This record gives sequence, C-alpha cells and structure tokens, in this order.
Amino acid sequence: MSSLAERLEVVSGQIADAARSAGRDPDDITTIVVTKFHPASLVRELYELGVRDVGENRHQEAQAKAAEVADLDGLRWHFIGQLQSNKAKAVREYAAAVHSVDRGSLVTALGPGDPLDVFVQVDLSGEPGRGGVQPGELDGLVDAVLAAPDLRLRGLMTVAPLDTEPRRAFADLRELSQRIQKSAPDARDLSMGMSGDFEAAISKGATHLRIGTAITGNRPTPG
Ligand SMILES: *Cc1c(COP(=O)(O)O)cnc(C)c1O
Repeated sequence: MSSLAERLEVVSGQIADAARSAGRDPDDITTIVVTKFHPASLVRELYELGVRDVGENRHQEAQAKAAEVADLDGLRWHFIGQLQSNKAKAVREYAAAVHSVDRGSLVTALGPGDPLDVFVQVDLSGEPGRGGVQPGELDGLVDAVLAAPDLRLRGLMTVAPLDTEPRRAFADLRELSQRIQKSAPDARDLSMGMSGDFEAAISKGATHLRIGTAITGNRPTPG
C-alpha cells in the first residue's frame, strides 16, 4: 500500500513527464485533486502536501467540506459536477471555478456576484443526460457566458466518453476550443483528463486535470 504522499509524487512525476514529451511546460498545467466522497481530513492532508486545487461534484458535500477547512489559506475549490440552477448561488460562495456550465439557465442562475471562473462543459458522447452542451449548441452558450459580466470564461471542459478512444475526444475538444477563441480569445483553457487518461489529455493540450483515485486511492462508497 502506498501513501497519499507517494501517490501524489508519482502522479506529479507522470504529469511532468507527459508534459515534457508533448513539448509543454509542466507549470502550465493545474492539477485539481478530486476529493469527492472523502472526508475533509483528506483535503487537509493534501493541503499539507502542497495541493491548492481540489474538486468536488456534489454541492452539499462540497459546501460542508469547504466550511470544515475554511481556515486553509489559498485553497481553491473547483465545482466539476452537474449543477442544479437553484444551487448555483450557493456554489458561488465557496467555489473559485465552475467547470460544468452546460446551459443558459445556469448562466443566468450564477448571476451577478464576485468574479467567477467558468468552463463550458461539452458532451462528446452524444448520449444526453451525462452533462454538457452538445457541440452544435456551444457557440450560443459561449455568447451567453461572455455576456454575463461577472463570469470569466476560461475555456472548455469534457469527460471522455467511455466508448471512445480518449485521445479522440480530447482532440475534438481542442478543435472546439480553437473555434470559440474566434469570439472568446481569452478562453484558451482545457479542463480534461482524469486518473485513467490524463497523459492522453496532456498530449492534446489539457491545462486543468481533474484527478481523483490515482492520487486519493479508492473512494469510500458514498454515504
Ligand atoms: C470523479 C470525477 C473525476 C475524477 O475521476 P478519477 O477517475 O477518480 O480520477 C474527474 N472529473 C469529474 C467530472 C468527476 O466527477
């Protein structure tokens, strides 16, 4: 059994290697450690090991954990799961970024407030219900985010579909990113890559990795 520190070090090394083989600077890649289902004490341990970006996919759990470790200076919470519009304002209270903006009603619900980084999530699976806007509706949603004064559009996010070669999905997201940069030149970031496919994501330009189990170990079953 390896320790949290060892796994973090191994994965960080793999990220740096993958970046260098893609001719990229590892410092241009942000690793978000996904702590869902784990207790706040794990977030504290990660912080002590130098982690400053953590990700959660369920509002209630994220809100409770963020409150428990509110004393950790400079810790950034990334909301990465499907978000109900009636929870949007509450997520804003603790999240530095929302990676899962996938419809106009959510843009409206996030509403005015302090500046918030957002990613538009794109569904590349073609199976509705998994979260994400269909590529054909992306441009309209991007325009809606750009029109929202307090939302800073950082770029696009996707979860690679299970039945496709992840490289293919990541290359598709990069193409969509180049397309939206014509109207949103600052939206260059790509949130893609998880425990099983982060090296492929780095090779296709990922700037934000969302890595859970490879670092945290297996998740406890949700309670
Ligand atoms: C859980 C989750 C991850 C991390 O998954 P692992 O396979 O544990 O790395 C990444 N992105 C999203 C949206 C998730 O829900």
